[in-house]
Order: sequence, then structure tokens, then C-alpha cells
Amino acid sequence: MTELEARPEALQLPGVQDHPKEVRPRPMSLGERLYLPLLAGMTVTLRHFFQNIFRTRERVTIQYPEERRDYSHRYRGHHILTTRPDGSVRCVACFLCATACPADCIHIEAGEHHDVNVEKYPVVYEIDMLRCVFCGYCVDACPEEAIIMSNNYDMAFYSRSQSIVGKEDLMKPFTFDPGKLGYRPRFPEEEEKRAAMRREAFDLVAAAKAKGEPQSRVAAG
Ligand code: SF4
Ligand code: SF4
Repeated sequence: MTELEARPEALQLPGVQDHPKEVRPRPMSLGERLYLPLLAGMTVTLRHFFQNIFRTRERVTIQYPEERRDYSHRYRGHHILTTRPDGSVRCVACFLCATACPADCIHIEAGEHHDVNVEKYPVVYEIDMLRCVFCGYCVDACPEEAIIMSNNYDMAFYSRSQSIVGKEDLMKPFTFDPGKLGYRPRFPEEEEKRAAMRREAFDLVAAAKAKGEPQSRVAAG
């Protein structure tokens, strides 16, 4: 046996008390024995409950999805692929958005466009929404204003494959309301004429879809 094991008090520094060696629970008061603090907590809960039921003060919560908050027109929500006035996709498959994307979630396959002035269009344009961080760099990088963002934040997916959104979904009708548009170039400084042109293009796509025209004309370049 060493000397320290034989005399543990030798480790004790002068003036420093030893740690307590036994547990002594704090004795409960009579109120604590009768669960009165619990009733005090329940009172707070019930006060908020009745205030919300009888609306005696403004509620901070909303009944989503029936009620929705208004978000800024710079909100970075679900992406939109914009169209030309003839309804074809505006994207020219230059890959700048995919290159700028920090999440590496844009997949493009380019095809040759029949118009030599356009040269290319995206045969496949997919965004993996579960990888996307909604930074808006793709919008900033695009030279054609072919990709913008919306105020739409309804993105619930039941499978991994559903989260990979293709070209036609990116041109879906929820984008037609300019009030639901989000982050996009030169907003709010953009000219009214430009906004009207976009609106006209959206209307054309909506009308074509309502008539049941083949998606190929709408979605293909
Ligand atoms: S918002 Fe950002 S992360 Fe999402 S696709 Fe665009 S560049 Fe990629
Ligand atoms: S969306 Fe814009 S940046 Fe991306 S490939 Fe199309 S034209 Fe290029």
C-alpha cells in the first residue's frame, strides 16, 4: 500500500473543503408535496389556451395550410423555368446554373435546338430539391433569366425520387400568378414591360395546358 492510499488526507489542499460523500435530497415543502407548482404551470397553459380560444389577444400562430403568411417577393422558394412568348423553355442549356450551384443539385442534358440563334435547349433539366439549399445562385448565374424562384414553399415528398423535379414540373401552373413569384433578377427595379412579357408567356403556357395541347410544344425548346 502506498503512502497516499494509506493517508488520503495528504491530498487535501489546506483551506479547501472535501466534496460531500453522501447524497442528501432537499426536503420538499408542503406546497411541493401537494403539487402546487404543477398547478401554477397548468394555469399558464390554460390562460394561453383560453386567450387563443376567445381571441382576447392577437395569435402568433396560423392555421396552415388554410392560412398562409405573405412572404417577400425576394423569397427563395420553388424554382421556375421561364418560357419564351411562344411557350418554349427559355433555358439555352449553358450549364452556368449547374456550375454555380454549391449543392451540385442541378442536372442538365443538352440537345441541339432547331433555331441556330438558340443553338441548345435542355432535353433534361432536373433539380434535386432535397439537396438544394435555396441560395438563389442559379438565378444569379443565369444569363437568360430562364430560372427564377417563387414564393411556393409547399414541398412535401413521399419518396426520394419525387424530390427530383423535372423540366415540366418546373414550368407548372402555380407559377403563373406574378404575385407568387420570388427571387428573380432586377426585382423590384425590373421594368413593367419585362414583367408584362413574362406574364404573357405564362398565360400562353396556361392556355396551351388548359386546351390539352401536347406538352412537347410547351416544354420542348
Ligand atoms: S438555389 Fe442554390 S442550391 Fe438550389 S439549385 Fe439553385 S444554386 Fe443550387
Ligand atoms: S437555366 Fe440559365 S444558367 Fe441554367 S442552363 Fe439554362 S440558361 Fe444556362
